[in-house]
Amino acid sequence: MTWHPHLWHPTTQVASSPEPLQVRSARGSELELSDGRRLIDAISSWWVTLHGHAEPAIAAAIARQAQQLEQVIFANFSHEPAEQLATRISALTGLERLFFSDNGSTAVEVALKIAWQWWRNQGSERRQVIAFEGAYHGDTFGAMALGERSLFTDPYEPLLFAVARVAWPHSHWGDDAVEQREQVALRQLEQALETPTAAVILEPLIQGASGMRVVRPAFLRAVAERVQAAGALLIADEVFTGFGRTGDLFACRRAGIQPDLMALSKGLTGGFLPMGATMASERLYQGFISERPEATFFHGHSFTANPLGCAAALASLDLLQANPERFQQFEVRHTPLLEVLSRHPLVRRPRCVGTMAAWDVDAGEASYLNPVGKQIQRHCLQQGVYLRPLGNVVYLLPPLGINEDQLDRCYSVVKQAMDTLMPV
Ligand SMILES: *Cc1c(COP(=O)(O)O)cnc(C)c1O
Repeated sequence: MTWHPHLWHPTTQVASSPEPLQVRSARGSELELSDGRRLIDAISSWWVTLHGHAEPAIAAAIARQAQQLEQVIFANFSHEPAEQLATRISALTGLERLFFSDNGSTAVEVALKIAWQWWRNQGSERRQVIAFEGAYHGDTFGAMALGERSLFTDPYEPLLFAVARVAWPHSHWGDDAVEQREQVALRQLEQALETPTAAVILEPLIQGASGMRVVRPAFLRAVAERVQAAGALLIADEVFTGFGRTGDLFACRRAGIQPDLMALSKGLTGGFLPMGATMASERLYQGFISERPEATFFHGHSFTANPLGCAAALASLDLLQANPERFQQFEVRHTPLLEVLSRHPLVRRPRCVGTMAAWDVDAGEASYLNPVGKQIQRHCLQQGVYLRPLGNVVYLLPPLGINEDQLDRCYSVVKQAMDTLMPV
């Protein structure tokens, strides 16, 4: 097999990457390749596959919906799948209004545009946006501007608007210096909030892309208090953490914070269809209702509220709510396996939240370009487990439906991979 002459793959350097593997089908936690090999999908295909691949209830819901109403323009029209979904997610998030878009980046862009224009509609001069060090909010321009500047954003630097940046005091098992780092971060936040601030955006509990960097719920509560006291809006980017990933339906619920806006995508449709949703409070919604045309939120995507996506999302929510123990208990499945693994001489900073278990590999510098991740990935692939480490950060984020044997296999294969890195 060779690189296809007409495709361009995401975040892929063709000069140094192996050719992509040809997938024929997928079921549960497994991918089946064209050559018949099977791989355990230990990272839920970039964090989207929630229950498992080809989950029958979701596939059936999409098929039913496709025969009834596949798509309709969502300005001038509404439909039941969208209405049901909005009602259900509102009840779960405490945010009354749902605005649809197509992916996580757009869900973040919409949250930021709503926050920004809401203040403007009130004639307010709040112009500052605060984000955290290491943040990742997507690859479109607004989302890139909110995210940490990096190798990924360097070429576009002059096009990105400025945001104020606050430290992210991430932690791990056995970390006894975390409180001090949290205090430093909170002082930075307080200082930044002295400038009139429109919004503060964060990834609740786990910063995903920057290396599965976990903060404590108490830190998030302290942040939320300060943001509220300053009168700024709090945006929770739950694109990665939403829908059971962190052991509760939403990371904000687990942390005990109530944001004003929430961005959702990835697990929203159970990982079947691209869809984004931005939840907003009724207070924000009301700030756009006016006789003045310029107060309108002029934003809309062609596929807004796609009925197939809504049907998939409703079926996925049914599954989550019928079996809450599947996400609530996942951390209990990871913990003993990660405890054993954490005794490996190369393992540093083990951490686990919900379905996510991660650690740093003590080899070379901490960077996305550290080749150790690629070496581990190669070894694991040969042994039938698909991982995609972030530089020297290795993580497991399996679908909820992964069975015990498959989960054990992920841990034993990744341990072997690290053994091969040890000096002999
Ligand atoms: C993946 C991700 C995004 C971007 O979502 P896309 O669907 O890839 O555009 C935004 N925020 C967070 C926290 C993410 O993990």
